[in-house]
This record gives sequence, C-alpha cells and structure tokens, in this order.
Amino acid sequence: MSDFDPIALGTRAQAMIEMLASISADREKLTRLYLTPEHRRAADLVADWMRSAGLTVRMDAAATMHGCRPASREGARSSRRLLIGSHIDSVIDAGKYDGTVGVVAGILAAEELQARGIELPFGLEILAFGDEEGVRFPKTLIGSSTVAGTFEESVLNMTDSAGETVRNALLHFGCDPAVLRSEGLQNADIVGFLEVHIEQGPLLERWNEPLGVVTAIAAQSRHRVRITGEAGHAGTVPMAIRHDAVAAAAEFIAMVEEVARNGVKNNLMATVGEISALPGAVNVIAKEAHLSLDIRASSDEARAQAAETIRGRSRQIGARRGVVIGIETVHQKPVAVCAPRFRKALASAIEAVTSRKAPELISGAGHDGLAMAHLTDIGMIFVRCRGGISHSPFEHVAIADLGLAVETLIRAIVEIAREEAA
Ligand SMILES: [Zn+2]
Repeated sequence: MSDFDPIALGTRAQAMIEMLASISADREKLTRLYLTPEHRRAADLVADWMRSAGLTVRMDAAATMHGCRPASREGARSSRRLLIGSHIDSVIDAGKYDGTVGVVAGILAAEELQARGIELPFGLEILAFGDEEGVRFPKTLIGSSTVAGTFEESVLNMTDSAGETVRNALLHFGCDPAVLRSEGLQNADIVGFLEVHIEQGPLLERWNEPLGVVTAIAAQSRHRVRITGEAGHAGTVPMAIRHDAVAAAAEFIAMVEEVARNGVKNNLMATVGEISALPGAVNVIAKEAHLSLDIRASSDEARAQAAETIRGRSRQIGARRGVVIGIETVHQKPVAVCAPRFRKALASAIEAVTSRKAPELISGAGHDGLAMAHLTDIGMIFVRCRGGISHSPFEHVAIADLGLAVETLIRAIVEIAREEAA
C-alpha cells in the first residue's frame, strides 16, 4: 500500500501551517502566546478544521482544543482513545512549524482515516495545546499537564510581565480555573499519546533522512552556580594570591564542557549559557560569579552522574583556587522514554512510507510528551527541518517531508489498531 502522494498531503499541511502562521501579535514576525487574542483566533481556526474533519470539538479548562472521533466498533474498548497532538503557541519571532506540524498532522490523519473508510477499535482525540513554550508565564506545559492530571494549583497565581495572573487570563479566555484539576484524563481510557514534531536539530538532515523515531525525551536539570572569591585591586594584588571568581568560572566552564564531551554515548549535553560577575568593573578582581548550568542526557543515571562529576571537580577547582563553588538545582525533569510498542509502530510506518530503515534519535528538547508521559505511553516522530534551525523565522520543512510525516502518522495509527485487536 504505497499509493499515496506525499506532495498532495504535504501541500494541504503546508496551506494549514501558513494559515496558522498568519495569526500573530506582530505584523512583522510570528508571536502567538498563551491565552492572547492570537491564541483565540488560532484555536478557533483549529476548531473549524477539526469539525470539517468530522471531529467533535471541545475546549478544556486550560484552553486546549480537543477534536474527538469515536471508536468505529462497539465493545469494551470503545471508550478508549488514542491521543494525538502538539501545541499552537509559539516563542517570540518564531518559525511556522514548531508545534503546528503536530496539530495539523493529527487533524489531517483523522480526516484521511475517515476518507479512506478505515475503522478503528478505539477513538481518536486530536489535541492542540496552548502553552508548551512557557513564554508568557514562568511555566511550561500548562495544557498538557492539565490533560495529564498533574497541573499544580500554585501555577494559577503566576503572572506575566504585565502582572496578569494565569487565573485571570484563563477567565478572560472563557476557561474556568476552578475545574482545571478535574480535567485530567484517566489512564484506563487512553491508548497512548502520539506527537509529530520538527526535529529542531541537525541530525536528520545530516543523515539525509526525512523522518526519525524518537526513543526518549532527555532527562534535564537546571542549576544556579555561585562562585565566591575575594575582590581586590587589579593592579596591586599579586597573581599568586588571588581568589578570582571569574578566573574560577572560566575553569569551571571548560571543565563542564569536557565532562559533557566525555559522555557522548549517553547523549550528555551540558551548557553554561549565562554568566555575570560582581562587582563587575574593569579594574577589580571579581568577588563573585553567577552562572547557569543546564545538563541533559538520555538516562536519569547518566544525568545524575554527570552532575555528581561536575560537583566533585568543582570542589577541586575551588580548593586549588581558594574560592567556593556552590551549585543549586532549581529544576529537574526525569527522562520520558517512548513506549517500545509505539516506537515499533512508528518505525514500521516510516519504513513503509519512505522505503528506508527508520533512524532513531533522542529529543534533547522538552515537549508536550514530557507531561503526557505521566498519563500514558508516548510515541513521537521527528521531521527533518532545514539546517536544524528552530525558534526562528528561518525554520523550514519541505512539503514532501510534511506529506511523509502525515502518511506515517496514519499508518502508525492503523498499525497500533492492529496490535490492539490482536
Ligand atoms: Zn514545539
């Protein structure tokens, strides 16, 4: 069954993605933040598409749009459904494809299954989450954590830069914050969650592959590093007796890079992306340096081990230089492993559609699947994007690749249905 036209499917997907991209807070660039008028227009457009695809639409208390198709056959499993989706919010000055590809692919897959007369033993529920990026409020994944039943009440009091709380923004959007906690779905009702997303990295392009199966969403931790030394005059304190916080920071950064480079087999990545010095003057030896540290890996053990190694080597640097290096963990997310049965179904669908063996890769970025993994099994595919560029107006996906992604999703759904029936 290879009689499909990736260009035709991809062209339809591209047209929808362009329509969504035209909805922005800014005429010059694409910016669509959670619970804004642009979010409303995008959600309404998505709801229209869902209805045209024969889906029943509802908006939940976190403003996620749900488009549902019931199971084709009666029986014990008929209330169960397969969730498919991604997000329609964006970063500031975003690309068109991040998030929207997954929402559009889900709607087109539902439409095609209907058009091809394919019956399924479970329902389909297409999801368009409103907050994956966490740009407006200091919290990510509000939509998916609500569906997963892990939404925390304290988030309602968080504010945006204008001082508006999540609670008020939800009320203005027409959502009832009081029922957020009860919006969580039940594991027994759910077959799993599938997401199609652009890779946002360079590997598929480098391998000359349009699609890849995601094995896991990486474990991640964020830390604040504070290095305390001793201030002094840049012209009078001899080099040998200095306790220079910035010089120690330089050694710390190089050490972090070395630790990560030695962990390639665990997809270890460690990044110092922010640095500041106190008092911060050209002729003063710094007494303090503040740094950020982000660590990611394909397993929780590898991530924890890297953090331990970094702590140990920091103590050595501190002892040698007479400075104190304090590392505080501010945020930690365990690895979300993609379910083997979905990896298998997605891989065989990719192989059927592309006639090549499906490559596997890990997601270094967090996604809605990270929250959904608390509810159910997750499966994910990545679509090649030009130059690996994302969160930028230069984000680009070829039309043929979009078509291949939609067809892969359709066939994976059929494959999962076959497994369920067996
Ligand atoms: Zn995304």
